Amino acid sequence: MGALGGTITMEAVAGRGGVVPTLSAESLVASIPELALVARISTTTLSKLPGASLSAQDVLAAVDWAMAEVDGGAAGVVVAQGTDTLEETAYLADLYWNRPEPLVFTGAMRPPGQPSADGPANLVAACRVAACEPGRDAGVLVVLNDEIHRARAVRKDHSTALGAFSSPVAGPAGSLIEGRVTLHRQPVARARLERPTSDPYVPILETHIGDDGATLRAVRKAGARGVTIAAFGVGHVSASMAAEIEKTARDIPVVVGSRTRAGGTLRHTYGFEGSEMDLTKRGAILSGTLDHRKSRILLWALLASGMSTPEVRASFDDIAASGPLPCGTNHGDGG
Ligand code: ASP
Repeated sequence: MGALGGTITMEAVAGRGGVVPTLSAESLVASIPELALVARISTTTLSKLPGASLSAQDVLAAVDWAMAEVDGGAAGVVVAQGTDTLEETAYLADLYWNRPEPLVFTGAMRPPGQPSADGPANLVAACRVAACEPGRDAGVLVVLNDEIHRARAVRKDHSTALGAFSSPVAGPAGSLIEGRVTLHRQPVARARLERPTSDPYVPILETHIGDDGATLRAVRKAGARGVTIAAFGVGHVSASMAAEIEKTARDIPVVVGSRTRAGGTLRHTYGFEGSEMDLTKRGAILSGTLDHRKSRILLWALLASGMSTPEVRASFDDIAASGPLPCGTNHGDGG
């Protein structure tokens, strides 16, 4: 088990006025005796950061550490971190994780000192999933509140609830009931990306009524190497924003996702200026069912591996689309 920090590791510290990440992986595991009944667990403190301060480099270092653990004989790996950024970090890890062993991310909504803290139950559940056979070849999974989510699909939907995570497009990949792991679906084989050789500036811009493209112009000027737009509905922007996207897409990749919670972008329904069809003609890449935050992660990863704009265009769709096996495919349960 590797700890990156987050609420699951947070305690009140004199003079700080609130909880901060302090617990090591070792003391976290030592505080949950039930873990000893699930697996033999070794611990590593990878960082003591709130989720908001984690960088792509921190995540890649955690992936390297996890790979070394499984290469050294671990049956699976759990990473505990802040829930604020878990939907992004787990997906980033998923783009590079190329081992059959489960890599499971978890966290907590309540710090250990609060009544009904959820960290212990989440950690036990995550270790159960990491130790179970159906978790193999499933890519990176996220386990909280007795639900199992695929990294590609999961999203933090509530800022305080214990059931804060959901997979709005695909539904959860599985659950734990009385400690028994059931995985309903497994992903198709996913492309594994080349390691980053740079750290390109790739922002997300959320469009809004009256958006005339000024913010997009500004980020282009600021040196963006690619940009993700959280567009209206199924991938729509204003006519003036569409013109700005066209100009931008001549130089750098522009990915258009939906700012709605679920459903993603369409491809060939609307034909007005600024519609998904119009934006495709103007050179934008539509993100499909991959949400705009994960689209930004994927765009960053492709650019960071040294791909040119045409190469990004050629690869984005395939990788973004890699999803669950067709319905009816059930790899059974176990546990
Ligand atoms: N509220 C966050 C958490 O659940 C804080 C963080 O992401 O570090 O862990």
